[in-house]
Amino acid sequence: MAGRQRGIGPYDPYTGADLGAGEWIDYSPAQDAGLDAPRFCPECGRRRVVQVTPHGWTAVCSRHGETDSVEMELR
Ligand SMILES: [Zn+2]
Repeated sequence: MAGRQRGIGPYDPYTGADLGAGEWIDYSPAQDAGLDAPRFCPECGRRRVVQVTPHGWTAVCSRHGETDSVEMELR
């Protein structure tokens, strides 16, 4: 799980917290373990459409398009 980032955008992708405004991030155990898909777009904070795939997940923001767990977890 090394390399998983927190607070990579103005918005936290797991909680939708407005990091730019200094909101506190409080991850659930599943989120902390990386088992949960990031449901919020880090760029705009919109709730994304998440689909679980055999490889992980994809999350689609209506404005910023699709993010794939494979991209997110490149080593
Ligand atoms: Zn977005």
